[in-house]
Amino acid sequence: MNNDGFEQLSAVIGLSRERDGVSLTRALTHTLRALCPGVDVAVLEVYGHRPMAMGGGEIAAEDVSVRRFDETGHRVDRRECIDDVAGFIASLRPSAVDCEGRGVGQVVVPVSGDIGPLRLVVLDDVPIDPWVRSKLMQVVEVYGNLIRLMDSRERDSLTGLLNRQTFASLFELAVQRSTAGGGTELVLAVLDIDRFKKINDTFGHLYGDEVLIHFAHLMERAFRYTDDLFRFGGEEFLVLLSGADGDSGRIALERFRKLVEGYDFPGVGRVTVSVGYVGCGSGVLPTTLIDRADQALYFAKDSGRNQVVNFADIDEPAHDESGSVQLF
Ligand code: GH3
Ligand code: MG
Ligand code: MG
Repeated sequence: MNNDGFEQLSAVIGLSRERDGVSLTRALTHTLRALCPGVDVAVLEVYGHRPMAMGGGEIAAEDVSVRRFDETGHRVDRRECIDDVAGFIASLRPSAVDCEGRGVGQVVVPVSGDIGPLRLVVLDDVPIDPWVRSKLMQVVEVYGNLIRLMDSRERDSLTGLLNRQTFASLFELAVQRSTAGGGTELVLAVLDIDRFKKINDTFGHLYGDEVLIHFAHLMERAFRYTDDLFRFGGEEFLVLLSGADGDSGRIALERFRKLVEGYDFPGVGRVTVSVGYVGCGSGVLPTTLIDRADQALYFAKDSGRNQVVNFADIDEPAHDESGSVQLF
């Protein structure tokens, strides 16, 4: 076996040791750069790319949102990239555009599965050399198989959002990110669709499911690329807003509440959402934070629904100066 083959094998073994989707995608970018120095690697996640059973088969450009990993693996707010995202959604075929004069080109490999986003692995400045390209493509192929497994473990199969089991590890990552970013704050919000049972009872479960899918797409469109979005169960969702304090958190959540209120859910019409949120003080257990956001949510429900409530603004149940909740 020549050295190239060995490098490729270690790359594949390295990828297979990663334990979650974020680390795996981060490892892919490092691995491809190491295999072919000079190549620029980006992974774009495309959300909202699946046609829905109800509400039209065509994918409108504004329904699709794109997130990009930078080299640290953190999602960044940059809608850079690829002109023809729609073309990749339609064909799911790799493409290469070469710049003969420079002897390099751009190779884009779509990676798609049943759950989760469509991922476009974008390689820039790749030498026009079939051996180099097949080596990179094989590693991307292995990544594709692994990320599909990760998605089935980490994501909710109906909406494609992250699932409840993934929350603890992503919460940890978000805390690390906010600490690395100079202690910028983190806000945790629980979102619960109002009177969802009535939607099921009136229109049937299939329409109820469709509302959940549209709701998840609205979340993907409304929140920033650096925010983590979860379906926690039933019609309850959770958002981790990075780099947000109580005020900017309220603005983002209020914007989302209005987006839902004004959206025409196909076959169902108007749907509203209630939201409870809490600022994540350092050292507070995630379960405690969820419990606090839940208390704010119940307050929103009690006060008439379709509103956003900050845990810090409610009086009950009593919470002392240190913020710890008096349960008994
Ligand atoms: P509230 O405004 O107080 O939140 O009222 P609600 O009706 O939304 O809340 P409740 O907890 O009473 O009902 C939630 C309903 O969500 C009951 C359950 O049948 C339904 N549900 C849970 N998971 C799913 C799902 O995956 N698909 C569908 N269609 N319905 C679901
Ligand atoms: Mg509800
Ligand atoms: Mg509920």
